[in-house]
Amino acid sequence: MTARKPTVKIGEKYGNLTIIEELNKRNNSGSRIYLVKCDCGNLCEKATDKLRRKRDPNVYCSKKCPLIRRDGKHLITHGKTKSQEYRLYYLSKQRSKQKNIPFNIDVDDIFIPEFCPILNIKLQKNHIGWSPDAPTLDRIVPEKGYVKGNIKVISGKANVMKNNATIDELKTFTKNIFQYLQE
Ligand SMILES: [Zn+2]
Repeated sequence: MTARKPTVKIGEKYGNLTIIEELNKRNNSGSRIYLVKCDCGNLCEKATDKLRRKRDPNVYCSKKCPLIRRDGKHLITHGKTKSQEYRLYYLSKQRSKQKNIPFNIDVDDIFIPEFCPILNIKLQKNHIGWSPDAPTLDRIVPEKGYVKGNIKVISGKANVMKNNATIDELKTFTKNIFQYLQE
């Protein structure tokens, strides 16, 4: 195998990927493989032939990268980008625009606990998309919106169960549900 010169440099940016270091291996077509960091926070390995489309904003760590929107458009990222927290932030911002509800939170206001505080199930922190055990951002009092002090990360299932119920409705629900199930 002829030793070709490296075609990418450490620290260079390709789309959303920053070259971290060269790994001492090559892929099947002989391209050097580098450790790269995606703007979403994920680390992954990429071969130089995959990085050639320099400055193409559509280069991500993977097809499941949280920065990829379903419509294929690229998310605007910033210095505080953290994968899942940023994703929840972004989605809640979109939702607040669509539903015209108050919004004043920052990415840093979003904390993903290990367990859902309502159902005690382990949250699948890196799951992309809705799932019963994936984190979702709840508005504690729905009509107050995504504002500081009114948001909490709970599981998808707990969020569906709670939905937009008021405290009184939840009390009545809790009172009646067991009897209902025994009927
Ligand atoms: Zn990524």
